[in-house]
Amino acid sequence: MILTRFAPSPTGLLHLGHAYAAEQAFNFGACLLRIEDIDHTRSRPEYTLAIYEDLRWLGFDWPGPVRVQSNHRAQYDAVISALDEKSVLYRDFTTRSGREDRNRPPVIKLSVERAMDVLGTHTLSYQDRGNLCPVDLTTLTDPTVVRRDIGTSYHIAVTHDDWRQNITHVCRGQDLTGNTPVHVLIQTLMGWPIPIYHHHGLVMESDTKKMSKRHGSQTIRSLREAGYLPGAVLTMARDAVPSTQH
Ligand code: GLU
Repeated sequence: MILTRFAPSPTGLLHLGHAYAAEQAFNFGACLLRIEDIDHTRSRPEYTLAIYEDLRWLGFDWPGPVRVQSNHRAQYDAVISALDEKSVLYRDFTTRSGREDRNRPPVIKLSVERAMDVLGTHTLSYQDRGNLCPVDLTTLTDPTVVRRDIGTSYHIAVTHDDWRQNITHVCRGQDLTGNTPVHVLIQTLMGWPIPIYHHHGLVMESDTKKMSKRHGSQTIRSLREAGYLPGAVLTMARDAVPSTQH
């Protein structure tokens, strides 16, 4: 059975790009909804409510309960402890300006070099849209696994939840493809299965520009208020994905 997830972050209203991503995920197989709200500096509860309402209006439904990441911080901390026990983490006190400041909490990074020693290899791989994609670990820069401001990170929360929720296929936009090698590294270190990836095309505003939340006129909400019906919004979203990328 295919089990995937749609995992928006409640940092703004859903836009046409989300409508396309939701359609891809909800049509891919059984699909769970996850609210990725670990970034408390940007997430707002009213946007979480808007996600439920806009998705329902578009015609999507999901089995409960919805996983809300901010309720599971202890689980993400446990992953950090498990990685720390493997001696692959280190504290980095360098500030954005490049100075060392030991009076501020550090960020925690994963040493790719130590990880390669622990794993005894520098090549991993994953499947994306039916292709086998090699990961050459020697080309990765050490990823941040605990951010200073939020005390955890997207990489840890997303890989942990995909494992805990038994996600078999990760269906998400191509803008996230670049994160996948880091995710595969964390999954391998943790002994979690590597899901099959399907990175789909992106809704483009023009030939080269990805749709973003700043373009408020294209939010699902504003289109609905302008009188569009759900089917028309989904068609509009589909038509804005270059046909080579579908
Ligand atoms: N929460 C992420 C986003 O809204 C998606 C994460 C994922 O699908 O891996 O971009």
